[in-house]
Amino acid sequence: MSKRILIVGGGTAGWLTAGYLARRLSADLPGGVSIQLVESSEIGILGVGEGTFPTIRQTLATIGVSEVDLIRKCGASFKQGAKFAHWRFTPGTAGPDHYTHPFQIAPSDDGLDLLPYWLLGHGGTANWDEVCSPQKKAADAHRAPKLPSHPDYVAPLNYAFHFDAVALAALLRDKAVEHGVSHLVDRVTEVIIGDDGAIAGVDTEQSGRLTADLYIDCSGFRAELIGKALGIPYRSCRDVLFCDTALALQVPYRSAQEPIVSYTVATAQEAGWMWDIGLDRRRGIGHVFSSAHTDDTRAEELLRAYVGPAGADHDVRKIRFEAGYREINWHKNCVAIGLSSGFFEPLEATGIVFAEVAAGMVANLFPWGGDWETSARQFNANMLRRYDRARDFIKLHYCISERRDSDFWHDNVAAASIPDSLHELLERWRFRPPTEIDIDSNVDIFTEASWQYVLYGMGWKTDLSARAGAYRYATDARRAFAEIDRQAAFAVANLPSNRQLIDYARQRP
Ligand code: FAD
Repeated sequence: MSKRILIVGGGTAGWLTAGYLARRLSADLPGGVSIQLVESSEIGILGVGEGTFPTIRQTLATIGVSEVDLIRKCGASFKQGAKFAHWRFTPGTAGPDHYTHPFQIAPSDDGLDLLPYWLLGHGGTANWDEVCSPQKKAADAHRAPKLPSHPDYVAPLNYAFHFDAVALAALLRDKAVEHGVSHLVDRVTEVIIGDDGAIAGVDTEQSGRLTADLYIDCSGFRAELIGKALGIPYRSCRDVLFCDTALALQVPYRSAQEPIVSYTVATAQEAGWMWDIGLDRRRGIGHVFSSAHTDDTRAEELLRAYVGPAGADHDVRKIRFEAGYREINWHKNCVAIGLSSGFFEPLEATGIVFAEVAAGMVANLFPWGGDWETSARQFNANMLRRYDRARDFIKLHYCISERRDSDFWHDNVAAASIPDSLHELLERWRFRPPTEIDIDSNVDIFTEASWQYVLYGMGWKTDLSARAGAYRYATDARRAFAEIDRQAAFAVANLPSNRQLIDYARQRP
């Protein structure tokens, strides 16, 4: 008999997992794994989560979603990174204050690592994000990462997407069903635990008991299986990442020709930050804040001041969350994917990428022979390290800031709020920049390039003076910086705008 997977939950995590596993485990073929997804129409999905990571391209390609469908059905736009405003200094106390974390990494085709040369001043006075790749200038000019002639998911500049999360879940559902996933709309009322401590089945309101070999908990913050039924604890990170509430709203563009920003813009606030995501026809904007440092009224006041008159008639939606994750995400025959597994504030869009990674691992570790434990150990160790590192990376944005305009910012630099693992990384990078030896490329989502963008964007000082003499290729480095600048000018002159490329995809026959 073929193996069976039951996925509980039909949000982004549930349908992404279903669609991906259907392709990787051949749900529509004899001998493949049969996959069923049950979701409750009353509970509904969270429906936020509009910014993604470049890995989404491969994931969507595997699921069989075309770029044109993504643009037409989910209002997608091209995302080339994140832009951070007012993170470094208290507003009004210093000059222009923003930096970017683009997806493109510095070229090192000829083996020359440009970063030390920039740290030693050979890149001029511009910030690292600007000198090391053409992407910042191109994205600042609202250019798309590619030409209309580039095939799906291929581009000269690295990119991901912004999209409408509710529409994406529907598109993923259609693809998953097309590839053999069976879809049941019902509510899970009870999870049955067998004598061996594994899940023996789930009872539903109308369809009776559902059973499977592997149960995947995509039930969101409710964590019906992994949390409520199996009692696997959630490790809170509130002592590190203070934000616990989001207020969100959607507003139309002022005009049909208003440029679509190719970044997620994250603007720091007195007790948190705001996201601003441009889709094709609207912007999604939200204020993420710490309820211990401000209240809903003040948070909404700031959000409405940011949005301006465009938001006047639009309601604000409030979402509470607790930053954290489970140390065990695969227990016996149950795996948690999505919000049931863990969640960090969406500062670096870690939500969906964690679901992508977890689905990929389930496909690779699927216990065909029935040995759950070996798969579980590998899965858990891998996810734990990933969560730890992502938590540190997000905390980095706060803990090296020079903002001191509120208790929130004071508390964020308190040594006790910085994990030891992050203290250790910062110690390493006083006298050398982050390199690949700091990263486990099989596990870490954020490479050394990401750490470099945030560190140096925030003004971190890595002192290379003691070994300045060892960097003998300053002339080559300056030439490489000039070449990148030339490429940036070329990209700005030749790439279509984000909006033009989207319009082109919409109109393509
Ligand atoms: P949900 O969307 O909550 O889905 C849960 C599903 O389980 C639903 O279908 C529900 O009906 C079902 N369910 C629950 N209980 C039962 C039951 N008893 N029986 C049957 N069905 C049940 N991520 C990003 O990558 N980028 C972002 O920019 C981003 N922004 C975010 C902003 C905010 C404010 C928040 C809170 C999150 C953000 N995220 C972001 C995270 C992202 O939204 C989630 O990772 C993503 O939506 C996945 O959610 P989910 O599918 O796990 O849960």
